[in-house]
Amino acid sequence: NLQVLLASRPTGRPSPDHFEFVRTPVPSPGEGQVLLRIRYLSLDPYMRGRMSAAKSYAASVEIGQVMEGGTVAEVLESRHPDYAAGDWVLSYSGWQSYALSDGADLRKLDPQKAPVTTALGVLGMPGFTAYAGLLTLGQPKPGETVVVAAASGPVGSAVGQIARIKGARAVGIAGGPDKCALVRDVFGFDVALDHHSPTFAEDLRAACPNGIDVYFENVGGRVWEAVFPLLNTFARIPVCGLVAQYNSTGPFEGPDRLPVLMRDVLTKSLTIRGFIQREFHAQRPDFYREMARWVAEGRIKYQEDIVDGLASAPEAFIGMLEGRNFGKLIVQVS
Ligand code: NDP
Repeated sequence: NLQVLLASRPTGRPSPDHFEFVRTPVPSPGEGQVLLRIRYLSLDPYMRGRMSAAKSYAASVEIGQVMEGGTVAEVLESRHPDYAAGDWVLSYSGWQSYALSDGADLRKLDPQKAPVTTALGVLGMPGFTAYAGLLTLGQPKPGETVVVAAASGPVGSAVGQIARIKGARAVGIAGGPDKCALVRDVFGFDVALDHHSPTFAEDLRAACPNGIDVYFENVGGRVWEAVFPLLNTFARIPVCGLVAQYNSTGPFEGPDRLPVLMRDVLTKSLTIRGFIQREFHAQRPDFYREMARWVAEGRIKYQEDIVDGLASAPEAFIGMLEGRNFGKLIVQVS
């Protein structure tokens, strides 16, 4: 069993040295357990938080523990009444090639209905984050302008496409011309803007002639600075992620902008609301039904970036935090 452990905690940007590869015997299932062969591992920005000892909404991974993560697996051996060898499941088995489960973290997948990898992206946690965060907190209305960054990734791409289904205008922000082409030509956003452009702030202003009604915050940093002056009265800002600062060590640069932010929260009646997707757990059945239908109808498109082998996971993960992934990042484990 090949496993990837957290070897040490990074300060700033992680490097491959912060991970350690070990081989352990393949475990055997006890009564009530299944043995899983992990086929796909999801790599997600939140894992940077798990590498840190800082207090957050979920416990850190301890040094020497297997890195956490969502996985798609095949049941190899079952001593659980609800699972049989050959079943495909979504599990939370982490960065390793085999794992045991008592079934509590498993969801059966039907490979006939959708490619199993979609359970890690568009039909999984990132898609659900977009769906629940946008519809519950963003509440886009026909004709409104919705802006989202990391727009070629699984969360941002779904945010813009759902916004358009609801009749809003979608402005996507992404890094580089290839990602912008994907956002515009495949995901169908009304506009795609490159945040690396020296004229990004002006480009955003030109793309939002009626201001911004919903800003789905995925990144923070310079994108937020360009968005902030364009927010309309009663704008909604679901704060989903701040990937631009996950590798920051602080203190943050620049003048203290908090008084200006609070002034606009007051005078523009802004709603800024952070969330962690699992608080919307009750909406999962609606999500599975509605999103699966949208994908089947071709109204929601998705892009996956599948890298080969667990050995590639650390580099791929580090690269994702800097924008080197092209769509939902997944490791093909075996
Ligand atoms: P992505 O696959 O989109 O990967 C992250 C992307 O962030 C990179 O590809 C890069 O895209 C972009 N990025 C990185 N640094 C910057 C920067 N300085 N400025 C602008 N963009 C940057 O990730 P996901 O779709 O999986 O996640 C998107 C966000 O949603 C993350 O912040 C994540 O933490 C958050 N999230 C929150 C959840 C919640 O429950 N609150 C659940 C799931 C995700 P580019 O090249 O386009 O810049």
